[in-house]
Amino acid sequence: MSSDPPAWRPEPGLCADCRHARVQQTGRGSTFWRCVRAETDPAFARYPRLPVRVCRGYERVLGPSR
Ligand code: SF4
Repeated sequence: MSSDPPAWRPEPGLCADCRHARVQQTGRGSTFWRCVRAETDPAFARYPRLPVRVCRGYERVLGPSR
């Protein structure tokens, strides 16, 4: 068994280690990155266009988060 981290497709950019990101998977294997900041601030997209390269809401989370 591999210990490599999962290879995300599409690559999420900043959302990958942002504390406001949540990963959702469909039963068909698709992955969506949801931004919980969108719930309180309409300036953020609930499902941001990936990869996110610049974001004023980005806050890095340390260690395994999900
Ligand atoms: S705040 Fe920005 S970087 Fe963080 S999850 Fe939302 S869109 Fe992604």
